[in-house]
Amino acid sequence: MKLVFLGTGTSYGVPQIGCRCVTCTSPDPRDKRSRTAALLEAGGRRLLIDTPPELRLQLVAAGVAAVDAVLFTHAHADHIHGIDDLRAISVRHPARLEVYGAAGTLAELARRFGYIFDGTPASPGTSKPELTARALAPDCETEIAGMPVRPLALPHGDSTVFGYRIGPVAYLTDVKAIPDAARAQLGGLEVLVVNALLSRPHPLHLSIPEAVAAARQIAARRTFLTHLTHETPHAELAARLPDGIAPAYDGLVIDVGGA
Ligand SMILES: [Zn+2]
Ligand SMILES: [Zn+2]
Ligand SMILES: [Zn+2]
Repeated sequence: MKLVFLGTGTSYGVPQIGCRCVTCTSPDPRDKRSRTAALLEAGGRRLLIDTPPELRLQLVAAGVAAVDAVLFTHAHADHIHGIDDLRAISVRHPARLEVYGAAGTLAELARRFGYIFDGTPASPGTSKPELTARALAPDCETEIAGMPVRPLALPHGDSTVFGYRIGPVAYLTDVKAIPDAARAQLGGLEVLVVNALLSRPHPLHLSIPEAVAAARQIAARRTFLTHLTHETPHAELAARLPDGIAPAYDGLVIDVGGA
């Protein structure tokens, strides 16, 4: 299995518009963080997680021409506003492209992007994403694109997001905490991906110290932090994290055991 970090930045992206801070002006390419998304590949099939505003740029940069299905974590703008870029995927897909998420997330997508989900065909000479939405239930494993996908319901401030355990990988972003019931399903991980926002607490997201503490409890073989802000340059953050925990960066590819 291969994990590709397409984007690793918080909702503003890094650099932020108008900011001249050390990270936003850094020459280190790892300090360019587009909004958060990832791709899992196994057996020649691919699962995309979220469709952020830079999706086109991310898929072009990663050399990805096709995906087999899409998982949505939640319906915040930074995770969904690239959904129209799925046109380029669905037009080459043999059937309608299946997109998965919590029922509430899919309902919000249908409300925000009615033209995609209203059941009408694209006007002659135009295109739109040809998608079929399929709701997932938390804690129930479903095979999607040949991979075992288990959604975990996790708190994100007052709302709930889906993290996903997919075999030896867990991808948990925009979570404020990892409750015991979810943690019980995260044993024996090879790779944990978890959001880490600031050094200080935030109402919706794990802080960096909270993410490190959660990673230690979960004890995956390797942990990568994502959804990072401009407050932490990559090299500085990497230097202060404990062994086995590293900041992710856009374009990072991780080979996950076996296949
Ligand atoms: Zn987010
Ligand atoms: Zn900045
Ligand atoms: Zn969010």
